[in-house]
Formats: sequence, structure tokens, C-alpha cells
Amino acid sequence: MHIDILTLFPEMFGGPFNASILKRAVDQKRISISLHNIRDYTHDRHHTVDDYAYGGGAGMVLKPEPIFEAVEKLKAESGNKESRPLPVILLTPQGRLFCQRIARELSQHSHLILICGHYEGVDERIRQYLVTDEVSIGDYVLSGGELAAMVVVDAVVRLLPGVLGSEASPVDDSHASGLLEYPQYTRPEVYREWSVPEVLLSGNHARIARWRRQQAIQRTLQRRPELLDKANLSLKEAGSIDKLKESGANRGDVVNGYGITSRSQNKP
Ligand code: SAM
Repeated sequence: MHIDILTLFPEMFGGPFNASILKRAVDQKRISISLHNIRDYTHDRHHTVDDYAYGGGAGMVLKPEPIFEAVEKLKAESGNKESRPLPVILLTPQGRLFCQRIARELSQHSHLILICGHYEGVDERIRQYLVTDEVSIGDYVLSGGELAAMVVVDAVVRLLPGVLGSEASPVDDSHASGLLEYPQYTRPEVYREWSVPEVLLSGNHARIARWRRQQAIQRTLQRRPELLDKANLSLKEAGSIDKLKESGANRGDVVNGYGITSRSQNKP
């Protein structure tokens, strides 16, 4: 996959893109990322990228010309062989809310172009006539699209084949199947007075899988019950949710083993 990012602040990407999984993905040539400074597509002496808003009001608006020129050049160079149009994605708090499903959808493309807005945002004609998609990373307003672009790139890239060490890792992740992930433990077996649930030490893989599935459902019910409406549950599992609600298991937090205990109850 190749990702082009249009930004006024390419230097912001250095840290996140030069560490951990993203760096490894680049080093292993599973992805390539190009940062394009929008200023490089201006033609006046001052490299003007923004201007006052028509109609008045505080704040500057990103001009259409440099962004159109940059995207059109990248599209022409892309040689997009997909039957679908090349995704040109504007990061904006007004876009569709980013989630694991959208990350999966974007991971199916071989090339993405991301546009980071700044100041008051971008000229409306960029939305209307240039971009194919608008994505928001949450219902809050950032100063620029750079952090949002980093979030999108990270979530998409870790889904690409071979990027994570183990192919199975993203499958169990929270949101991958519509559920939050089950609790994870590592050594030591007993830390202070807190033990790892016995089932995880049993070596019985079927039992462990059942426990994890049950914990994932329970945890989702407790923390994000609205996700269960769209989760892939068997009839039996769907039935068990009513029982969990009756037992009060939808309240509090899962802390230890099969039992549902609140955090304070579990303190030594
Ligand atoms: N005035 C704009 C509005 O109300 O829709 C907000 C502009 S914001 C200060 C500047 C830029 O940050 C936006 O153009 C966008 O690229 C980015 N941005 C801000 N919040 C975002 C979010 N939640 N998701 C994605 N991008 C965001």
C-alpha cells in the first residue's frame, strides 16, 4: 500500500512514523508513505496556502488551488489500476466517524491520499469536487488533521497482511468482531495477591477459548452494550446476555476469573 499525506506540517509525522510497527512496515517495504507539504504547490512569492473567509469571521481557510494541484498530480502519477476510484480522504470533524470497519475498508486499497486541514478548515470546493471521502476520528475538534491522519494510518496499516508479527493478532483485537477483547494476562502467575485466572493455566485450549469468548461478551455488555446489537453472536450467546443482565453482570468490571467483582471488592 502507498499512502500520500498532504499537510502543512510534515515534521509532525516524524515521531509516530519512525517507531514501532509503522517503521517496521516501511522498512519491510509492506507500505510506503510520502508526506507532501501543501506549500510546495503554491506559486506566489509568499507560498500562500490560506486566506480570509468570504462573509467574514475569525480564522483562515485553506485555499483550493494548492490542494487541487497536489491531488491531481498524485492521481496522475498513481496509475491506479483498481476499478474503484482512488480514495482521496479529507480528515475533518464533519466526516464519517472512523471505526474498525472503516479501517478494514481502507486497508483493501493499494493507494490512499489523505488531506490534513488546518486553521478554520478547507475551502468547501475541496469537499465538493476533489475528495471521495471525509473521515472524523471523533466528536471533538483538533487543531489540524495531522493527528487524525496518523490515527487512520496506524489503524489501517496494522491490518495489512504480514505487518503484525502474528497474522492472528488483529482478529481478536477489540472491535475486530464487534466485541471488546477478553482480558489478557502475562507472567508472573501471582502478582502481589492477584492471581491469573485458573482457566488460563489449564492448558485446555477449548476451555480457554470458551472463557475468552464469554469474557469478551461480558466485557462488551459492561462497557459498550450498544456494540452487542451488531456483534456476531450465536443464539445461545444472545440468550446468555439476558441472563448476565439479570445477574447484574452488566454492571461493574470484570477483574478476576469467571466471577464478576467490582474493582474495590477485589482489592487485597
Ligand atoms: N472549523 C472546522 C469545523 O468546525 O468543522 C474545524 C477546523 S479544525 C480547527 C482544523 C482541521 O483539523 C480540520 O480541517 C481537520 O482537518 C482537522 N480536524 C479537526 N478535528 C478533527 C477530527 N475530529 N477528525 C479529523 N480531523 C479533524
